[in-house]
Amino acid sequence: MLFNNDVESRQKILVVDDDPTNLHLLKTALSDLALILCSSGGLDALELASREQPSIILLDIEMPEMNGFEICTKLKNNPKTCNIAVIFVTAHNESTFEYKSLEHGGIDFIGKPIDISLCRLRVKNHLTLKQHEAALIEAKKDMQALVNQVPAYISYWSEDLNNLFNNDYNGKWLNLPHTATVTKHASEILPANLYFAIMERLELDQLHHEFEIKFANNLHQITYAQVHLTMAKSGTKFAGLLLTMTDISSIKQAKKQLNVENNRLRIMLNSIGDAVIATDKLAQITFMNPIAERLTGWVNRDAMGLHIDEVMNLCDASTKYKGQNPVTIALKEKRTVGMALNCQLTSQDGTVYRVEDSASPIKDDEGNITGAIIVFHDCSESVAMAVKMSHLANHDQLTDLPNRILLHDRVTHACNVARAHNKLVALLLIDIDHFKYVNDSFGHAHGDLIIKLVAKRLQSLIDPNATLARVGGDEFVLLLPHIKSASQIDTIANDIVQSTRTPFRIKGNEHTLSVSIGISIFPTDATRCEEMMTHADASMYRAKDLGRNRFCYFSQELENQLVKRNLLITQLRTAIDTEAIEVYFQPKLDLQTMEIVGAEALARLSTPDGQMISPLDFIPLAEEVGFIHELGKIILLKSCAVAKRWNDEGHDLRIAVNIAAKQFTNPNFCETVTNALELTGLRSKYLELEVTESALMHDFDEALSILNTLSSIGLTIAIDDFGTGYSSLSYLKYFPVNTLKIDQSFVKDMFVDEQSLDIVKAVVNLGKSLNLTLVAEGIESQQQLEQLQSLTCEQGQGYLFSKPLLLEQFNLLLQKQ
Ligand code: C2E
Ligand code: MG
Ligand code: MG
Repeated sequence: MLFNNDVESRQKILVVDDDPTNLHLLKTALSDLALILCSSGGLDALELASREQPSIILLDIEMPEMNGFEICTKLKNNPKTCNIAVIFVTAHNESTFEYKSLEHGGIDFIGKPIDISLCRLRVKNHLTLKQHEAALIEAKKDMQALVNQVPAYISYWSEDLNNLFNNDYNGKWLNLPHTATVTKHASEILPANLYFAIMERLELDQLHHEFEIKFANNLHQITYAQVHLTMAKSGTKFAGLLLTMTDISSIKQAKKQLNVENNRLRIMLNSIGDAVIATDKLAQITFMNPIAERLTGWVNRDAMGLHIDEVMNLCDASTKYKGQNPVTIALKEKRTVGMALNCQLTSQDGTVYRVEDSASPIKDDEGNITGAIIVFHDCSESVAMAVKMSHLANHDQLTDLPNRILLHDRVTHACNVARAHNKLVALLLIDIDHFKYVNDSFGHAHGDLIIKLVAKRLQSLIDPNATLARVGGDEFVLLLPHIKSASQIDTIANDIVQSTRTPFRIKGNEHTLSVSIGISIFPTDATRCEEMMTHADASMYRAKDLGRNRFCYFSQELENQLVKRNLLITQLRTAIDTEAIEVYFQPKLDLQTMEIVGAEALARLSTPDGQMISPLDFIPLAEEVGFIHELGKIILLKSCAVAKRWNDEGHDLRIAVNIAAKQFTNPNFCETVTNALELTGLRSKYLELEVTESALMHDFDEALSILNTLSSIGLTIAIDDFGTGYSSLSYLKYFPVNTLKIDQSFVKDMFVDEQSLDIVKAVVNLGKSLNLTLVAEGIESQQQLEQLQSLTCEQGQGYLFSKPLLLEQFNLLLQKQ
């Protein structure tokens, strides 16, 4: 408020004169310039001046009590009034007075009689000066206040480095009273290190310096200061220095604390067992600890700034699906992301680790995401351990085969699957015969080696779908899932019994072993795992009772069937090997002339004890066990040879040979037929092959190609049992068919149900329209014959004319004709 004009702050003028007229005159003349105070002189004037602090005193010199000079001297001697401008007013105008006035501290004088306008001008000028002075003082005060408030040390120094100014009023910076610092040389008052630091810099050709300095002065807890030096130059000469310092103790302290904290953190992160990676908010890497470096194969400095996905190659261990990195999710969803199960990390060098991880976002004070941290560790060992534990829990230690626990699980599963697919499951309990003897005589270690070898041999016999388990000292269980027929089981059980007869060699000893096997089958024998086990066990004991070295089924009936089947296989094998298969011939007649026009060759198997086995039993078995090709070849050769002889004897007979479906799967089938014709010398037109519809449909393309080849060499093709197979007749136009054989069931029922007769009629019509020869099978009665004759069916065979005959009997029949 330096230039305020209100009443309170109006400048004051004190007029001192013993003459009231003068007082009145001056008051009137100057009252518009300032507030005029009047005094008649003496002590009153001094007291008024001290109290009112006027800017100017107009002081008369000649006064009775105390003259003007005396008053002025007193004013100047009083610090409260010494700065008041004194203007003498006097009638003396000699120069000695002017001199005297100024000598006594006056700043001006006004002559009497007073020239009012000159007086006003002078007073006005002095007032203005005073005003400026006051303003300056105020400004200085303000500046001082400002400087005092700045929490910094501010100082000016002369070119000799004497202190000209400093704001260290309370000695906080230099630990000295303020008065003891001003005018003092820098070396006396500044701490030595600061002084030398300044001196060093003064040598340099640089105007401004900034540095930090340590303070030994702990009194006011200033330990560090930031120093700014600015040199003043006068021309090229050093003219002084501005030195400021700010207290950076707390910043230093905080930094130190931060460093300590950082170091502690770094040491901690470097020494913990977990991998740690920090990223910024874009998931770009800002830090990796050594474990993270090891697991990712990246070094910290190369990984810096890369996206987390580039450095952490994560995927699901089982599916290999590369999901989002937990860091990305944590950043996106602003939450901690728990560990991903089954996670796999592939390091740069290709090493694969199983890892567990979790990522968290990092937030600043205001809750903004600034980055994320992912912590993970290698759990490969624990995963491997878990796998191992589970393996141990489920496997036998000696043989590493599944144990009872795993077996139970597999059996239950196999039964469930079999139930759904209408299949069988077989459980074979295999017990080594007299194993106790081996153990007792050679020791348990030796016994263990044998068990291992037996396990190996058993395993070599089974397919990958089967499970071989060890359930006791010398007991194994073989689980066969997806079984179609009991004969499959029979083959495997037989293989096992046979293969164990081959001696086991251990450390120079040879052990001939045998096994007893008990077999139970789901769902025929049992429906639950436990039940299957007990039944297999019971059957195994039966095998032991029956003299060991064999297998027994839980179901006696099944066992009998299978025994019979095995016997039949053996007989068939022998018959093939000895060519003991017999061929019977059934005549085929022309139904108009009743003359024999051909014969059907029908195979017969007679056992050494004179038993006759039907082809309906042994042909399907031969197909199943793969003998049909050899069997078919023998029959074909025998039949062709017979037909050739008939031809040679002048009988124009065609021989019909049945071909089983399986025979078409033999790539050499056509060759077999042509070989038979060549070997016997029979002309192809005398050979007819009888095939069933189902044989043709089994592999359409294959059958078509075979029949085309055969037909091209001149033999004829008959469809056997026509009407019982496929309802679609369209295949007839694709295949080179010559004959249709009406199935005997229709002939038999012709007079039983009308449908059969209709079918026979339809087949005859169809044959005629396709220009095929028609043969009726199974004609047993005159009535049937007549009906067929009336339908103009061309040929027929049946018991009415003759049963299938041995060659000699057939020849007799021919002769009769
Ligand atoms: P198929 O080819 O339909 O042969 C006709 C069957 O009917 C023969 O039975 C024959 O003895 C019988 N049969 C003939 N006339 C009559 C009759 O008036 N009444 C009755 N009830 N039956 C009659 P078989 O010899 O037992 O042969 C059965 C089947 O075995 C044959 O049926 C044929 O499919 C097959 N088969 C026979 N021999 C062979 C062969 O050498 N190879 C092949 N792959 N299959 C053969
Ligand atoms: Mg036939
Ligand atoms: Mg037939």
